[in-house]
Amino acid sequence: MKYLDEYRDGRIARSLAAEIARRVTRPWVLMEICGGQTHTLMRFGLDDLLPAKIEMVHGPGCPVCVTPLEIIDKAIAIASQPGVTLISYGDMLRVPGSRTDLFHVKARGGDVRIVYSPSEALNFARANPDQKVVFFAVGFETTAPANAMAVWQAKREGLKNFSMLASHVLVPPAIRALLSAPRNRVQGFIGPGHVCTVMGYRQYEELIREFHVPIVVGGFEPVDLLEAILMLVTQLEQGRAEVENQYVRSVTYEGNLPAQKILAEVFEVCDRKWRGIGGIPESGLSLREDYAELDADRIFGTQEVTAEEPPECISAEVLQGLKKPTDCSAFAKRCTPENPLGAPMVSSEGACAAYYQYRRHTVAAGSGGH
Ligand code: SF4
Repeated sequence: MKYLDEYRDGRIARSLAAEIARRVTRPWVLMEICGGQTHTLMRFGLDDLLPAKIEMVHGPGCPVCVTPLEIIDKAIAIASQPGVTLISYGDMLRVPGSRTDLFHVKARGGDVRIVYSPSEALNFARANPDQKVVFFAVGFETTAPANAMAVWQAKREGLKNFSMLASHVLVPPAIRALLSAPRNRVQGFIGPGHVCTVMGYRQYEELIREFHVPIVVGGFEPVDLLEAILMLVTQLEQGRAEVENQYVRSVTYEGNLPAQKILAEVFEVCDRKWRGIGGIPESGLSLREDYAELDADRIFGTQEVTAEEPPECISAEVLQGLKKPTDCSAFAKRCTPENPLGAPMVSSEGACAAYYQYRRHTVAAGSGGH
């Protein structure tokens, strides 16, 4: 197949679903890691197309959703200071911190701006040398190389008014944490296609050796996802556990080596707290000591900021595949995209927002979403 339409062809999708139904003999719980994949599942109603024996649960692969509360609070503290311009992606402005969000900081006169790439933040810093410009960098391995390049470039140019508040997270340690959890239900994973475009799929072999759970790297269109589910079901029914690549038009075994090189140059692996899940060892990226003068956390003295999650939001269980958004008593009532209580309702990639947007808010709360 060459064209987008073909990856959305209903006839192909239905024949893949029929093949899955033919092969499946017992219940399986599968997780798509990436929020973009969750969005496609909901948008095209793919979970309704699957046989009842296949349960899809939704993983922690939405960067906005897993950015810890305390990093939002740090960004708010920095953006509230005079002479500072805080720049980030649009979704981050609506994520609730402990007491407020960045939109409210902006409404109160803070200089908070939205960009589509870190190079726009760099350009703003070059054009405004008297302003302290902070780029709020979140995301998985997918966005990290462009952010690393911005920091590398700023250091090379000796740009003194640019810094980065970085909160990057890594997928393999999150899968390890999910599989190690005593309540884990997931028996197979659809790997995140965009992350693997950068990092390859070699790094998942270790997880498979450790946990004997199949992982199929998948794309983001309906036919991609159904094909990945078929590959997973085939492995599970045959008792195999391997890493396979459905998203061959984008992902290779090694990944993008120059992108990995700039990541290693600028960032180092660190322990990271995930919103709703808690601390996961070696699951994040922070700036290396060589780049300390560009680290906003050090420059603005926010390293000690901590925060507690609001108790009513069950995003921890949603992001671990233990509950569906519709199991949350606040879903579509006190928590909506206009007034989100938790991060999974903010981003279009968040599971709660995807359920809300694609008709699932008509499902009675507590009934489950499958
Ligand atoms: S519906 Fe809202 S409160 Fe409930 S888990 Fe999702 S984000 Fe949290």
